[in-house]
Amino acid sequence: GPVVRCEGVTHVYPDTDGTEVVALDAVDLEVAPGQAVALVGPSGSGKSTLLTVLAGLVRPTAGRVSVAGTDLGGLTERALLGVRARSLGIVLQTPGRNLLPYASARRNVTFAQRSAGGTRAERGREVDGLLEAVGLLPWAGTAARHLSGGQQQRLALAVALAGDPPLLLADEPTSQLDRATGEVVLELMVRAREERGTALVVVTHDREVSRRLDVEHTIHDGRLTSGPDRG
Ligand code: ADP
Ligand code: ADP
Repeated sequence: GPVVRCEGVTHVYPDTDGTEVVALDAVDLEVAPGQAVALVGPSGSGKSTLLTVLAGLVRPTAGRVSVAGTDLGGLTERALLGVRARSLGIVLQTPGRNLLPYASARRNVTFAQRSAGGTRAERGREVDGLLEAVGLLPWAGTAARHLSGGQQQRLALAVALAGDPPLLLADEPTSQLDRATGEVVLELMVRAREERGTALVVVTHDREVSRRLDVEHTIHDGRLTSGPDRG
């Protein structure tokens, strides 16, 4: 089955002045295994909210969400942590949020790989291979909190891919990177998809990124419109 299925997903944030913000309005979305999806739309249209709902970090007000075959509705926080560790790679706009600040870059990747379980655990060469792929091997021993914003963003991607997840969720993964480094990051995501069948859902303003993915979904005022599949 699909790696993501959303049916009628609506999310309403309560606002400080008592009004409400409808961030997602009856969103239906399916992502097939290995499919690469770009989420585009103006600022404030609901892209980040949709990503955090898929990550199980925000529970939608209404609708059903399933990820990698698991219905997220009604799961305990502990069960959600398990789904996240095993089935999801997540790169949020604040990459530091998904990193262990006092642990080294290498330890961050190793920890993510062990948490995911499976056959990759303890394969140190691949950890260093991933660090090399994101250009961080020289900083392998540096604590995450001492890395720059762009370096943390790249480390977050290495951490996200460490467990070889069926689904990678990324929110503007190239926003803090220069063009050359952004290209490296895009290449790693595209290769994870080609070589390992990782499905990608990428929020992006970057045409260069969107162009490389299979399908572009547009969000306006919380409503999602699907584009034609190029894959
Ligand atoms: P995008 O990622 O497309 O910029 P968001 O998902 O961040 O959009 O936001 C969608 C709408 O929800 C916006 O109107 C935003 O102001 C509102 N919003 C986002 N997060 C919160 C929050 N934590 N509390 C209240 N409103 C929020
Ligand atoms: P190389 O050409 O050196 O294999 P890659 O960028 O393909 O470079 O990968 C570098 C390292 O990162 C390799 O050890 C590879 O196994 C690992 N790697 C790449 N993508 C993933 C992924 N999605 N999950 C886990 N490990 C990965």
